[in-house]
Amino acid sequence: MVVKGIQASVDGRIMASADYSKSGSRIQAEEAGDLDTGILSRGAEELGLSLTTSMLERFQDFHRELADWNTRMNLTSITAWGDVQTKHFLDSLSVVQATGKGFLETAKLIDIGSGGGFPGVPLKIVFPGSSATLVESTRKKAAFLSHLVEALALEDVHILSDRAETLAQRSDLREAFDLVLCRAVARLPIVVELTLPYCRIGGLVVVHKGSDAEEELAASRTALKKLGGIFKEIRRVDLSGLSDDRYLIVFEKVSDSPAEYPRRPGMPAKRPLS
Ligand code: SAM
Repeated sequence: MVVKGIQASVDGRIMASADYSKSGSRIQAEEAGDLDTGILSRGAEELGLSLTTSMLERFQDFHRELADWNTRMNLTSITAWGDVQTKHFLDSLSVVQATGKGFLETAKLIDIGSGGGFPGVPLKIVFPGSSATLVESTRKKAAFLSHLVEALALEDVHILSDRAETLAQRSDLREAFDLVLCRAVARLPIVVELTLPYCRIGGLVVVHKGSDAEEELAASRTALKKLGGIFKEIRRVDLSGLSDDRYLIVFEKVSDSPAEYPRRPGMPAKRPLS
């Protein structure tokens, strides 16, 4: 394990604490990364997850890197520590409600359209025995992900900067994953075409969706059938810190996705399967 990045950030936090006690300034401490992780720890407990000190440190470092890079590029509109804990970290970890803990402990997962690293990176932090592949077509965002993985000293994380439509034709990626994740990328019929080709038979696709979940699900029947998936469940994410409607839609892969899918880049969105 590369310890350098973590060591540096721990040193940074120790200095920050000293500054904090001298000045009494909460803002100074927050800027330096000495953050209260109560919301995250309690929320994780609600999900049945017990976060260690080193996991909590990684989440603090994650937030610091996200906020820093976000000043130079558009990674997220959510940057306040309280909101990041609920709307990014806990929302990502809610995947455990669909899969169970055991499945995630050794899962080979892929996150399609990972952006700032959600939901793949929070899951990798909490389930270090998993293997994570993050697909992100925007090169600058992929550069952030590479930097993040190094800063958090995460092992067995692979960043691929290309379109999901293109990468799905690679033989080492096609039908090679236990779990395919996708949050906030496109409407569900499009997501079905972009995700199912990566899933092994018997594996799961878990998609985060908002209040339109039921309507999008109804529109996805044809795509699901063509791509070799079946609908397993829709689960409302029930977390005290999350007030808006959030759902996880779960599909199971039951037969091969025909080689013609996904269609060439842009086609799934231009002409969603119906
Ligand atoms: N999943 C992250 C989240 O929930 O915060 C990021 C969501 S962001 C709104 C959607 C991301 O998907 C963008 O970073 C975009 O570049 C990426 N994306 C969209 N279509 C893609 C495709 N076909 N292949 C790879 N990445 C894609």
